Amino acid sequence: MTNMSVCPGCLGRFADIEGPVHAYLKGSAGCWARFGQALALQYSDHRYWPAHQLLTDAYSLQHSRGDDPRARRSARIHLAALYAQIHLGQSEARLVALRKALSDPSLADLPTVWPVPSVSIAEIDISEPARHLHSVERFALAVLSDWSDHHSIAAQLCKV
Ligand SMILES: [Zn+2]
Repeated sequence: MTNMSVCPGCLGRFADIEGPVHAYLKGSAGCWARFGQALALQYSDHRYWPAHQLLTDAYSLQHSRGDDPRARRSARIHLAALYAQIHLGQSEARLVALRKALSDPSLADLPTVWPVPSVSIAEIDISEPARHLHSVERFALAVLSDWSDHHSIAAQLCKV
């Protein structure tokens, strides 16, 4: 039986493997590998692509924790981009521009009270494109809902 470990970013349980982790996103190697598997699918099969922006922003937001300035900047960028998609229905082109505008290091950071995660990508379906999109939508909605205390900041950030 595979040993499991808890990811410090999303509190999900993943295989306790040795492997690469992101430079500043807080995640276990097992969680990072699972995210990489979903990304590989999205990049190699266009039928999975519609879930890409939501998955990337939700996963990055969830794992942007701690005092590293890059993580704090990442939280600001991905919170706004997730909010822009779900609440404002903004296009992929607009999201790319928004993320770029918000990467300006002179902008104020979010408060450092990180929400307790309610979901993890362990629940994401990769068996088939429609089920994948549906499961990513559920995941992204839950992540944004975990961040509900910061929605007014997100709405402000989306005005850049
Ligand atoms: Zn994780």
